[in-house]
This record gives sequence, C-alpha cells and structure tokens, in this order.
Amino acid sequence: MAILPIITFPDKVLRRKARKIKTIDRSIKRLSYDMVDTMNDAGGIGLAANQVGVLKRLIVVQLPEEEPRIYINPEILYREGSRMVEEGCLSVPGFVGNVERSIWVKFRALNLESKTIRIKADSLLAQVLEHEVDHLNGILYMDHLAEHEKLRPISPEEYSSAIRPGQEPDQRDDLTTFHTHSESEIHSS
Ligand SMILES: [Zn+2]
Repeated sequence: MAILPIITFPDKVLRRKARKIKTIDRSIKRLSYDMVDTMNDAGGIGLAANQVGVLKRLIVVQLPEEEPRIYINPEILYREGSRMVEEGCLSVPGFVGNVERSIWVKFRALNLESKTIRIKADSLLAQVLEHEVDHLNGILYMDHLAEHEKLRPISPEEYSSAIRPGQEPDQRDDLTTFHTHSESEIHSS
C-alpha cells in the first residue's frame, strides 16, 4: 500500500487516453489499492489512473459513508438528462467551475474478480463516474464549462468543505469535488 503522487494540470498525461486492461493481475490489484489509499489521503471521492501517471483504464470511487469501489475498463453506456453542478478536480487544485452533467447514467465495468458490474446511477455517483471516465479519455471537467463560465478560485477552507460534500450539506449541496487533495483540490473524486 502506498500513497502515490497526484499529477496536476497541465501535465500532458492528463490529456492522454488510457488503454484497456487485458489481464487483472497482481500489479493491477496493487495499483487499485494504492489508488484507493491515495484518494482517501487526498480527501477525494474519485481518482482515475491517469492522475497517478498510469495510462490504464482503472478508476476508484468512494462516496461518503460507503466502501471504496474499484472499476476496471469502466464505460458509460447511456446518459440521460442534464443538470448543472459545481465541480472540482484533484488535478486542478484551488478551483471549481459549473459544468453540465447527466441526470442519470448506465455504467458498466469489471471488478477485481473480473466480474461484470452494471449500475444505473444518479446524483453524486453519476457525476463522479462521468468525471472519472472522462479522465481515462483525456478529458478534464473544464472542457465542459459553458462558454460564459469561468473557473472560480476558492480558498483552502472552502476547498476542504468542497471536497467532502457530505459534511456540510446545508451549504454545499451541489458542490462536489472529486479526487483530491486536501487543500487544493477539488477533483472527481
Ligand atoms: Zn478529476
């Protein structure tokens, strides 16, 4: 188990497309557990392998009060509806922005036992899954900003409440941060 360094924008690895995983071997399992540790250490709710410099299709997600989820070769199969949410990214520390995300998605991936997992997700989970699968395709949340929107710098205090959306629901209902790092981040998880 290890905490891995989180790569930040504008490192080019964040813009590259990750490759499909053919065999779920020991090295993939180890990377998965290290990514869960890294996500937890950073206070995020999601992390994609690109963010630790590995171009493999692997994401980890951990919603407040839930166990960590590890997804291999994840795919968004279907999306429906749209809503605006404030979002951040561990790889883009210190900023948030309003982006359009789906109301719900159909999602498919493998778990570490090579079993196919299918989920119909909405709310925060749908947002995180879209954010993380985007990472594997070299897409960052800023790419989804509406034309008139800009990234907004946030203070470290605001940032830490933003990256733990479950903690202050009265103030931060829609603010989500994924990936992440404690004071700077706001990333999926
Ligand atoms: Zn991110």
